[in-house]
Amino acid sequence: HTSSGPGLSLHTRMLLGFIVGAGAGLLVNFFIGEAGWVDALIHYVTDPVGQLFLRLLFMLVIPLVFSALVLGVVEIGDAKSLGRIGGKTLVWILVVTAFAVLIGMVCVNVLQPGTGLSQDVGQSLLAAGSERAADVASKREGVSGIDILLNIVPKNPVAAAANGDLIAVMFFALMFGVAATVLQTDGTRSFVSTVQGIYDICLKLIGWVIELAPYAVAALLFSITAKLGVDVLVQLARYVGTVILALAIHFFVVFPILLKLFGGMSPRAFFRGAEPALLTAFSTSSSSATLPTTLKVTEEALGVPRRVARFVCTLGATANMNGTALFEGITVLFLAQFFGVDLSLFQQVMILVMCILGSIGAAGVPGGSLPVIAMILVMFKIPPEGIGLILGVDRLLDMCRTVVNVGGDMAGSVVIGRSEAAAEARAASRPG
Ligand code: ASP
Repeated sequence: HTSSGPGLSLHTRMLLGFIVGAGAGLLVNFFIGEAGWVDALIHYVTDPVGQLFLRLLFMLVIPLVFSALVLGVVEIGDAKSLGRIGGKTLVWILVVTAFAVLIGMVCVNVLQPGTGLSQDVGQSLLAAGSERAADVASKREGVSGIDILLNIVPKNPVAAAANGDLIAVMFFALMFGVAATVLQTDGTRSFVSTVQGIYDICLKLIGWVIELAPYAVAALLFSITAKLGVDVLVQLARYVGTVILALAIHFFVVFPILLKLFGGMSPRAFFRGAEPALLTAFSTSSSSATLPTTLKVTEEALGVPRRVARFVCTLGATANMNGTALFEGITVLFLAQFFGVDLSLFQQVMILVMCILGSIGAAGVPGGSLPVIAMILVMFKIPPEGIGLILGVDRLLDMCRTVVNVGGDMAGSVVIGRSEAAAEARAASRPG
């Protein structure tokens, strides 16, 4: 699924990009140091290539997030015909995703994988970086808590989109989806199918943009390692460890507890039954590509009634992403630590909310969360160039977080399926 270029899969090419970029950067850092031609190479070649890739990602954020959220709301609304399933799914998504982000944020705050480089390193990266970074740095002024809350509601949705004010756009999209669901006229239905078209087009475009990732990875890593040397790779390793640890906690502790308490299923039975879908998720890095397997396994091996499985897993493939939300939280805080951006507790709470919404807005394709992360970084005045730093190791993390995403869909199906069965039994035993 992920491979379309000749021979090697996209992930392999990204890894190669990482090795080539970081290797060349390290060689330059060790043996050449400060030299005019190195600066020129970074300035005229590797920085622009990285910037190009980031710009292409940014380009897609607004249409993608808008269409994903409108469709998500409409889908949940349509589930009225399915009785309570829509509401239960919504509660499951919000609560369990919030838990996932919290686990990630606690881990990154305790382990501090991004601190350790001297503070001026981040600053020098900023100074040497693009105009965008300079732009971000210059806008780094404080905004009060009340303002941030008020700003959730855009005065002007077009201006919010133009300024990359993601949360205001999300609010607007959610309201739009709610109204479209309530109205149900020919007009709103054709609007929804247009939005579906926008969403499909965005997915296609992301697919094309991600094809450029191997070159962007090589370029961005060269820029960074040529300037910072091997230290930066050590930090990256700590970041990878933090993400994997947090994902493991969510997967091996939170899911089993929820399954035992609310699903009436032993974790062992769950993991055994779910295994084919989990393996597919691991190898494709795509919840959407895994969906057919997820559906089959959830119905047949986990014994969830078809209508529950179909609804929860289909919606979940794009909207219920525990692993992605957790990963977004860690990544944003890691990069804030890395660049020496201080975040207040209130800002961290806002990041939590953004990560929940961002995981709903992210597409279930390889690297689907990258545009959303880029946007969250800009919102909190963290240099989006940081994306370049993490891209090179994204292969492994994408595989792992997709497993948690798909696992969350199946665990949710089991829990909701059981509660539906109980509700039906109650209804049947009621006299009259
Ligand atoms: N690859 C993930 C998924 O499909 C999305 C992401 O990039 O986080 O579930």
